[in-house]
Parts: sequence; structure tokens; C-alpha cells
Amino acid sequence: MKPARALALPLGLGAVVSALVLGCTGGPDGWPDRPGPKVVASFPPVASIALAVAGPDAVVLPVMSGQSPHGGEPKPGDLRLLRRADLFVINGLGLDDRLATKFAATAGRPVRVVNLGASIDPKDLLDGGACEHDGHDHAAHAADGDNTDPHAWLGLKHARTFATKLAGELAAIDAPHAADYAARAAAFHAKLDAVQADGAALLKDKKDRKFLPFHASMAYFAQSFGLTMVDPIQSVPGQEPTPKKLDEIVKACLDQKVRVIAVEPQFSAQSSAKRVRDELTRRGLADVVMVELDPLETCPAGELSGDWYAAKMRANVVALAGALK
Ligand SMILES: [Zn+2]
Repeated sequence: MKPARALALPLGLGAVVSALVLGCTGGPDGWPDRPGPKVVASFPPVASIALAVAGPDAVVLPVMSGQSPHGGEPKPGDLRLLRRADLFVINGLGLDDRLATKFAATAGRPVRVVNLGASIDPKDLLDGGACEHDGHDHAAHAADGDNTDPHAWLGLKHARTFATKLAGELAAIDAPHAADYAARAAAFHAKLDAVQADGAALLKDKKDRKFLPFHASMAYFAQSFGLTMVDPIQSVPGQEPTPKKLDEIVKACLDQKVRVIAVEPQFSAQSSAKRVRDELTRRGLADVVMVELDPLETCPAGELSGDWYAAKMRANVVALAGALK
């Protein structure tokens, strides 16, 4: 390894690279001993869709599983995986692009980065506070004026696009299995079609179609099922609102009769959500409920599979349909 290369990196990453150099000599590279393209995915939903398309013909490993993609940092093991990867799959749209740049700089050889978000027709993207999503780059985002909502994986249409893109990328480096990748992408599409149809059926007669999200993640999900939202409780992921902001949220919910509050398994405290619920109830809004919606930003170890994404999306719409009237 060349010390000069590590020194040229940002300070924190330089330390990671040093740990990697010291820790990996002669150790396992983290990849199972299986044939097929090696795919690293930046976080769980991207990994799950990649697993669904890869089937037994390619190996997919996630990085960052236990951390929020909003400004998480790679671990030495993550970097080690990338050094033998053929593809590095990211969501893009300002969420994990910088992670990909950091990884690529330390891989020691060119790794093809597959930016799934870039395959979405820009007219199908929503606005939504991208500058609040990467703790390191507020100024850069504000400067380039990009306010794209990065949570594209939570839209069923976009998840289908992701699968199609992945099938094409895998076919390009593994032509003998091209038809298998295409068939699995088609099966994934059919599974999402069923989630969408079943969700639409559950929501068909609901007059009450609004909810209060916990962080600004669920706009593409709401769009998939014809639902609407008021401004989120946490406009910056992980940061609780001020008393003034809480008051504005309560007022908006009262004005629009929003009685369903979405909370996320990733945020354990959620005391602000409970305060909103109690305040709405105190001020006379009937049947205020909290319902757990998972934006799939993290996944407990051992749960990730090619079926995980569709199952979680189904669970989300079932939970929400159970709460709306
Ligand atoms: Zn998010």
C-alpha cells in the first residue's frame, strides 16, 4: 500500500484505511467462496432488490446495514469487500453518492458504481429537503440547489426501475445468466404489482387518507398508494423538533384532521411523536393513533433477503390501512 494515498484522503477515512491495512493482512476478504459477479450494495433496500435479481447467479453483500444512510460512515470490513467487488450499487440522489466516492477512492482498482436513482426519469422525482440528508454537506447541497427527495426506494414504481437496471448491469458482466436476471426482475415486478394492488384494495374505501410522517422519508410511498402527508415531525433526521415547530405540527394536524402519526422503528425515543399524539387528543381530535412505518433505512442482522423489501413494503401499507378510516 502507498502511505501517500491514505494521507491524501479526508482525516477520518485515512484512519479507516490505516486500520484496514493493519487488520486485513492475510485475513479473509469477506466474500463467500461462490462463483458469479460480486455486488456490494450501499444499504438494505438496495441490497434486497439486488438479492432478488441476483438469485443464485451473483453474490450480493450489503454494507452499512446497521447505520442510517444519512451520513453513516463505512467500516474497515465494508472497504475490504469493495476491493474485490465487480459492482457497487447505490441509491444515489444525494443520499449515498459520497459514500460511493469515498469507497471508490480506497478500492485500489476501478469498481463500477451503479447509481440506481440516476435511472429514474427526473420528472418522476419529488422535491424534499435533500440538503438536510447528509450531515457533512449541507452547504454543498444548498449551493447546487438540488432539493431532490432521495427516498426513491420507497416508491414501488422506482423499485421496479431499480430491478430492471440491476438485471441489465448484471447481464452486462455475466452474459450466460442474462435471461435468469431478466426473469427474476420480472418476478420481482410481479411481486410489487401484487403489493400495490392489495394495498389499493385495502385503502379503497378510506375517506381519511392523510398521515403525519416521523421523518421526511415517506413521500414516494404515499404517492404509490394515493395518500398524502403533512410536514414531518423531524425535518432533520435524528433531530427532535423545537417546541415552536411541534406547535406548528399540532396546528397543521388539527386544521387538516390528521389523526394517524407514523413512527419509525429506527428512532427509539420518538417522544415528540407521543407529545403530538397527546396534544392532538387533548385538543379534541378523536382516535389519534401512532402506527409504525418502516422506511427500510436499516435492517437487523440476519433479516436481509431478496424477499425482505417487498415484505416490508406490504407490512407498511397493511399497517397504515389498518389505522386510516
Ligand atoms: Zn431518510
